Amino acid sequence: MHDPLLGASSPLAPPLFQSSVYRLPDLDALDRVSDSLEPGFIYARDGHPNAQMLAAKLAALEGAKWAIVTGSGMGSIAAACLSQVSSGDRIVASNRLYGRTTALLRQELSRFGVTCDFVDCNDLGAVRAALQSPAQLLVVETISNPLLRIADITALAELARQRNCRLLVDNTFATPVLFRPLEYGADLVMESLTKMIGGHSDVMLGMICGNHPELLPRLTQIVSTWGLVPPPFDCWLAQRGLATLAIRMKAATENANALARWLKGHAAVGRVVYPSLDNHPDHKLATNLFPNGASNMLCIELKGNGREAVNRFMRHATGIPFSPSLGHTTTTCSHPATTSHRYETAEEKSRQGISDGLLRLSIGIEPFDDLKRQMELGLGPLTT
Ligand SMILES: *Cc1c(COP(=O)(O)O)cnc(C)c1O
Repeated sequence: MHDPLLGASSPLAPPLFQSSVYRLPDLDALDRVSDSLEPGFIYARDGHPNAQMLAAKLAALEGAKWAIVTGSGMGSIAAACLSQVSSGDRIVASNRLYGRTTALLRQELSRFGVTCDFVDCNDLGAVRAALQSPAQLLVVETISNPLLRIADITALAELARQRNCRLLVDNTFATPVLFRPLEYGADLVMESLTKMIGGHSDVMLGMICGNHPELLPRLTQIVSTWGLVPPPFDCWLAQRGLATLAIRMKAATENANALARWLKGHAAVGRVVYPSLDNHPDHKLATNLFPNGASNMLCIELKGNGREAVNRFMRHATGIPFSPSLGHTTTTCSHPATTSHRYETAEEKSRQGISDGLLRLSIGIEPFDDLKRQMELGLGPLTT
């Protein structure tokens, strides 16, 4: 297409289309665009170029036929559920999901007559039993938060398939660089682009992708009608982040793997939770699925008085900011007991193994020696 301003040239970096609406030459063009006989855009809530460019790149990365971008990860999970269930339907979900996902299933969808049963998805017998009653959707995370339990996606996909139930996988902790759930039988995959994929803590977006062709028009309609549309600038930033995702994930995972091994012998650390270590309950699965390290996330349990030890770590390791998210370029820490799981009961926290001394680290891509120095600052005072 010849542009009067740019002439024969075109920008190497993708342009930002910061426009809420598009102009069309006449009614005939409107008809062609509306009927998908010609590409084009009309109103940004129904779709815009930055979302479409980003979605195409994400679909390729996930090995998906299509992808759609939403204004947050929760927007993607909500859209995925809305596309699959109606009043009277039932969902089976992991009992270790991201807190807001559990709240969506338990408190919000229940108001629309959708029931949800939560099961331990690391217990395939329990999942099989739960699927004996009809369910439309099985919801699980590839790597759970915060204790990094790994789901056997192949086995879960087979159980779901046998019962005519669709499998939705939240792949946020793994990212498509480490794991592509569609290749293991998932029907729908979501990622919070807010985390590693955006990668610089400056966007809030989500993505859903899949291979069933009939689901894309459904989801497109849901995203527009429920108003889950992503802002163009965030899509532009996420596309920029995506360009370095593979090397960032590789570097951060290598750092996490090395740090887990270094922390294992540390006097101030009672327990290191990292699936590539042989004391993790899903170590075997982790070795098969993630031979080069099971993501950039790891947890440590500090010795001594939990809350006090965590406060001391945060005050001394000032280069590891306490910020309750993940996927930043540099290492950050969070405290599940008072952030993601703050409103869970004491029994629920103890069932999941979330103690006051549990510190969650999102490992970044800084040189390993810098990371180690910061960890020494945080852990050092505990032993002296
Ligand atoms: C952050 C997160 C979400 C929600 O994504 P937002 O972009 O914050 O809405 C969902 N699942 C997991 C595993 C997450 O870490």
